[in-house]
Amino acid sequence: MKYAKLFNRFQTPQSAPIPGSNQVRNAAGGFVWTLDRWAVLDRFLILGSESGTYYASPVVLTQENAANVVALIQEHGEKVVLRICEVSLEGRAPRNDPAIFALALCASLGNDQTRAAALQALPYVCRIGTHLFQFAEICNGLRGWGRGLRRAIGTWYNAKPIADLEYQAIKYKQREGWSHADLLRLAHPVPASPSHGALYKWIVDGEQTEPLPRIEAMARLAKAADANEAAEIVRMARLPREAVPTEWLTDAAVWEALLEQMPMMAMIRNLATMTRVGLLTPGSEATRMVLAELGSANRIRKARIHPMAILLAQRTYAAGQGHRGSGTWAPVPAVVDALDQSFATAFDNVEPTGKRYLLGVDVSGSMGMPVNGSPITACEIATAMAMITVGTETNVTPMAFADEFRQLPLSRRMRLDDALRHTRDQNFGRTDCSLPMQYAMKNWLPVDVFVVYTDNETWFGRIHPAQALVQYREAMGIDAKLIVVGVTATACTIADPNDRGMLDVVGFDTNVPTVMREFAIA
Ligand code: CA
Repeated sequence: MKYAKLFNRFQTPQSAPIPGSNQVRNAAGGFVWTLDRWAVLDRFLILGSESGTYYASPVVLTQENAANVVALIQEHGEKVVLRICEVSLEGRAPRNDPAIFALALCASLGNDQTRAAALQALPYVCRIGTHLFQFAEICNGLRGWGRGLRRAIGTWYNAKPIADLEYQAIKYKQREGWSHADLLRLAHPVPASPSHGALYKWIVDGEQTEPLPRIEAMARLAKAADANEAAEIVRMARLPREAVPTEWLTDAAVWEALLEQMPMMAMIRNLATMTRVGLLTPGSEATRMVLAELGSANRIRKARIHPMAILLAQRTYAAGQGHRGSGTWAPVPAVVDALDQSFATAFDNVEPTGKRYLLGVDVSGSMGMPVNGSPITACEIATAMAMITVGTETNVTPMAFADEFRQLPLSRRMRLDDALRHTRDQNFGRTDCSLPMQYAMKNWLPVDVFVVYTDNETWFGRIHPAQALVQYREAMGIDAKLIVVGVTATACTIADPNDRGMLDVVGFDTNVPTVMREFAIA
């Protein structure tokens, strides 16, 4: 080989670092850049580490992310707490678990101010009983039960209105090895009101000293003579599903009563069950109600329904059978359609930019791994994200790549599950993230914005993606940009941090459409 090839700043094989750059080796053996710590935090908060990646086990990926959070806490603890609150409160992440974990790290390993800020943020990040139990369990493994932590837990209970707290006590009795009784015993708060005191007493000792309407209704429900009586009790006391004995959970009338006051997320999760018991049928009143909810962009955003939740629900519901033998049902076609449409609604809605887009979805072997403790794979996230841009913009060329480039026939009117079928279960091949830029240059295709959806584990190409972009700009005379949609919580990126025409975003962050739009038109 010639020296000119061995050490070239403009065309370097991905198996070597670009001379003079601060590239590092990724898990696949290719060279990429390290994301800055805040961007790594964002990836963690949104994508989580509990599924690991193709290259890293859940333990290793979690250790890396925890180390990143801890390093950030040392310098900017309160800012970390703020970022956690933002992501959690805005519902930008599919799951709240990474935010709870990061908050527990702040509450355990931060300095005095950081720990205080984290405990103050507790009710904002841990909004329901399950979250609080998760937080307690993580803290239990990181720190002692000092006064600050006990007081924060006590405040969590005291600050909740009594009706809300009753609901929590019924709905999330115990999870993660913790119960409300455990936490109330530990925190021992001075009750904020006599009714709080009465509820605490019932939770801890099982004794009732004052009227507790919902809890009394539960006792009546346990003795209900028939389904109609059970449904009436549910309706009057606004009881959640968790308060209903199993024997009534096969009855349409009881589910109808539950549906009337069901939070939207619970509704989306229970679509299959409500269909199986015969409540949701084509044209039924209950179906009309469900369709109205799913069709309301306002309701979806207000309830902070994450698109991933809709994607999961759509997949399961349309299949007509549960994963773990939870029976079969005949999916109502209108509900399947409504879920399909509400997916895009759950993201920020943006105006088209009119720019020319080339979307490159990484379909290499490593993209077939599940992400975020869900059955959704990195590649499905990538495809679903590509569909958002296909649905918004008018000038879009969607393509798929591994070690070669191929057509990806996504279209605006295509259903989401049909779109995903084009990339699902066909992840194989080596990875070359420079292919979208190379393809466009070879075919003289005018592109303003390249979007590459990838885990950034590129290694196979004869040129780095960032170099291919620079070549493309020069050859075409277009100041093209590159947006990298990262779909795993790793710290690497193909985007050159010193090139202002390249941007990193996080797959399944609900902000992505807005951020991408602003970058595209800047
Ligand atoms: Ca790969």
